[in-house]
Amino acid sequence: MPTTDEKKLTLDAVIVGAGFAGLYMLYRLRGLGLSAGVFEAGKGVGGTWYWNRYPGARCDVESMDYSYSFSDELQQEWRWTERYSAQPEILKYINHVADRFDLRRDITLETRVTSAVFDEAASRWTVRTDRGHDISAQFCIMATGCLSSTQEPKFERLESFTGKWYHTGRWPHEGVDFTGQRVGVIGTGSSAIQSIPIIAAQAKRLFVFQRTPNYSVPAHNAPLDPEYEKIVKANYAEFRRQARESRVGFVMEKNDASALEVAPDVRAREYETRWKRGGLGFSSTFNDILFNQAANQTAADFFGAKIRSIVRDPVVADTLTPKTYPLGTKRLCVDTNYYATFNRDNVTLVDLRKTPIERITPDGLRTSKQDYQLDSIVFAIGFDAMTGALLAVDIRGRGGRTLRDKWAEGPKTYLGLSMAGFPNLFTITGPGSPSVLSNMIVSIEQHADWIADCIDYLRTNGRRSIEAMADAENEWVQHVNDVGHMTLYPQANSWYMGANIPGKPRIFMPYIGGVGVYRQRCDEVTAKGYEGFTLA
Ligand SMILES: Cc1cc2nc3c(=O)[nH]c(=O)nc-3n(C[C@H](O)[C@H](O)[C@H](O)COP(=O)(O)OP(=O)(O)OC[C@H]3O[C@@H](n4cnc5c(N)ncnc54)[C@H](O)[C@@H]3O)c2cc1C
Repeated sequence: MPTTDEKKLTLDAVIVGAGFAGLYMLYRLRGLGLSAGVFEAGKGVGGTWYWNRYPGARCDVESMDYSYSFSDELQQEWRWTERYSAQPEILKYINHVADRFDLRRDITLETRVTSAVFDEAASRWTVRTDRGHDISAQFCIMATGCLSSTQEPKFERLESFTGKWYHTGRWPHEGVDFTGQRVGVIGTGSSAIQSIPIIAAQAKRLFVFQRTPNYSVPAHNAPLDPEYEKIVKANYAEFRRQARESRVGFVMEKNDASALEVAPDVRAREYETRWKRGGLGFSSTFNDILFNQAANQTAADFFGAKIRSIVRDPVVADTLTPKTYPLGTKRLCVDTNYYATFNRDNVTLVDLRKTPIERITPDGLRTSKQDYQLDSIVFAIGFDAMTGALLAVDIRGRGGRTLRDKWAEGPKTYLGLSMAGFPNLFTITGPGSPSVLSNMIVSIEQHADWIADCIDYLRTNGRRSIEAMADAENEWVQHVNDVGHMTLYPQANSWYMGANIPGKPRIFMPYIGGVGVYRQRCDEVTAKGYEGFTLA
């Protein structure tokens, strides 16, 4: 791509976003000899790990899994220091990848893509940015991230607050020192659960404002065991193969028994073992936890007992115990000292179900019961997940139809990769693919590989465009929905369902059929000459 500040460009492909997905997509397209340019709103590469710098931010899929697999040299030479790496280390890794593979020369930072319009006559996309770029490209690839569009705080009179407020997903680069402060954290999802123990240790007082409690499993994070690292690195190819064929993109110990078939003491022992091991594997302790309400209840009961054994105040323990949705149907969290933090004298839990926030005040906030004096407010209120970043771009396909219009009743895609009416437009980890239910780097690599292979196929076969057929798309949407409803997931008001965003259609957006099964399906589509697509 021209390195000058040229604004009128002609490229083979535009890639939107420079997180894990955008970087790998660029690497692949360059390998095919295409001219490709990445446009990224942030001042640096890294996506999630560029923006989410809140205290305690780290991955909850282990680092030996949560890393690129495309280069054996890279995976052999890079050394993670912890079982679950912290944000600064992951960001360093992504920057290392950008340098090691000389990716930066095709990345334009601090540039937001505002629109992408399909020109039917030319069969090309016109992509525009907030810095005046006007790019003509044959392919447009949205690597915009499932969790990159933050949910903005919409509390009455927020502008009147005289202290400072922060969003965990847009944390200041210089960090925040809460020493001596009265701090309020609003929200108790994954970001809050990671940051609360650290903020509590620093602040004078911490008020945690909770609407819905979450299930959180201990991480048992530790320095990476050098023996384990050696074993994995000696067998990395096989380790990655198993991850690709697994259900969630990393290998969790499976148990083919039902929670309801085993004796109560056996069941309790199994849960205890998983709890001690820590991490996301807890939800696969038995094979029916996510499918059967009664089985799920046994896990929930174990959890409740754990919370009661950690948290001294029974009322606080009860408030922290989820009761309104099955375990695992909202994203399971992974923490270090989360529940124990509520034993600290300087920490207060406020139940917003009983006393909702009425408004922000100049010196804190007011619930229906009382005023809280705060120096800082941390909004840990999450993201407009999966569709937010895509719909923020004015995307217009065939006949000028907007994506917003097409998705008015919820996202519709073929394989989470493409859409009828939007030729040569691809979405990496789009709705209708395993995406957020998986180790996302595995899913990202699979999508970027599929897209690169597809583009290569089109070029070598003299085709200009590929477009999902409406029937194939409808069938896929139905299938995603059917599989989702075989599980307990749709029972929760989760961000998987779009339920955290007022007015967003309630659809279970990710594909829960499993990473391995999904990959097979995508490969079959390719093997059958792009079944379900029209090639022109
Ligand atoms: C705190 C946190 C922890 C996580 N931990 C894990 C984990 O342990 N395991 C896991 O599998 N997943 C995890 N995830 C999910 C994580 O988002 C993915 O793993 C992965 O980083 C996504 O990469 P991506 O490139 O697809 O998207 P992102 O990293 O979100 O990158 C997308 C980029 O696109 C840019 N962008 C968006 N719209 C535009 C536009 N219009 N113009 C220009 N640029 C644009 C954004 O600025 C962003 O930089 C976590 C997410 C969060 C928020």
